[in-house]
Amino acid sequence: MYNIPFNRPAIVGKELYYIAQAIQSGHASGDGAFTKKCHAYLEHALGVPKVFLTTSCTDALEMCAVLLNIQPGDEVIVPSFTFVSSVNAFVLRGAHPVFADVRPDTLNLDETRLERLITKRTKAIVVVHYAGVGCEMDAIGAIATRHHLPIVEDNAHGLFAKYKGQFLGSFSALATQSFHETKNFTCGEGGALIVNDPSLIERAEIIREKGTNRSRFFRGQVDKYTWVDVGSSYLPSDLLAAFLYAQLEARAEIQAKRKMIWEFYRAQLDPWAEANQVRMPIVPAHCEQSYHMFYWLLPALEYRQALIAHLKAQQILSVFHYLPLHLSDMGAQFGGKPGDCPVTEDVSDRLLRLPFYNDMTEADLARVVTAIQEFEFTGASRA
Ligand SMILES: *Cc1c(COP(=O)(O)O)cnc(C)c1O
Repeated sequence: MYNIPFNRPAIVGKELYYIAQAIQSGHASGDGAFTKKCHAYLEHALGVPKVFLTTSCTDALEMCAVLLNIQPGDEVIVPSFTFVSSVNAFVLRGAHPVFADVRPDTLNLDETRLERLITKRTKAIVVVHYAGVGCEMDAIGAIATRHHLPIVEDNAHGLFAKYKGQFLGSFSALATQSFHETKNFTCGEGGALIVNDPSLIERAEIIREKGTNRSRFFRGQVDKYTWVDVGSSYLPSDLLAAFLYAQLEARAEIQAKRKMIWEFYRAQLDPWAEANQVRMPIVPAHCEQSYHMFYWLLPALEYRQALIAHLKAQQILSVFHYLPLHLSDMGAQFGGKPGDCPVTEDVSDRLLRLPFYNDMTEADLARVVTAIQEFEFTGASRA
């Protein structure tokens, strides 16, 4: 058990009260009153045409693969440096993943190396806004338009972040959010699909409702509901939506707290990082980040493992992040091999994330900072 965990969920407002309301309303299954409130909140806040809550970001990504008619043998370009769901959702439909490397500064898909990956079989480009810092959407959008390719933004980290003044998740035909426990806003497990291309809205609604036109039936647009397409059960219970809505209502408070944590780490640890050749996160001036995580790049793998062990000895949990997908067992089956994505391979060994959660106290933060400042790399210790 760690004294200071890496992450933990917190009640920030009316979560429990709203859950009770959801049950008492007599509608605890999907698309109840709180689901509708979350949809309206997110559509209004982000200025997007349609949001659907889903059971997870993974499920929202699976909906994207169905909506884009991904077929066996189609190629989907996806960064190697991401969570497995960004690629699995498409592989489930038979897609062949083509792994892209990331930029050394933001760790986002390297737009300068994107176009060479496009072939006649490419059907979609998946981008991930790592740590809630926007990808270079101007350049990526121009390439996608030139090749008539849809973009899917996996925006699990970046709710309410902006690129050049525009919300992440609003740049592409389809975008996804996560409300998993580890994200800024949570309901334990949950997600959302953002549909920016109006021509995909009706089908998204059907796929999410087990392939039926049940939603149209409830709106009185058809007189019976029936099976009209493929689909699955992607609606979260209204109990989860109730929890989530309370978190969204506390948006200003949650984001202010996370900004404080991030700024505290940066200000307090800057001199130490400078003295130890540790690279701080880079947020370009045209990006407003979501304060999803605080990570840095240590000089080498052994250094990182030693720091993890040092913090662990003080009951502080710090964690590394994605292993390169192209080098995973599955990635290798798709032809991935060492050297394919050199930046991903390098940063994956050196990246470390510090504890970061919504009810983190100043005392917690001070303990983490002090523990790090006491660390000296001797080359001997091992995690
Ligand atoms: C967390 C995460 C996901 C998966 O989210 P779930 O809601 O757990 O399915 C997908 N992509 C990225 C980049 C993530 O960080």
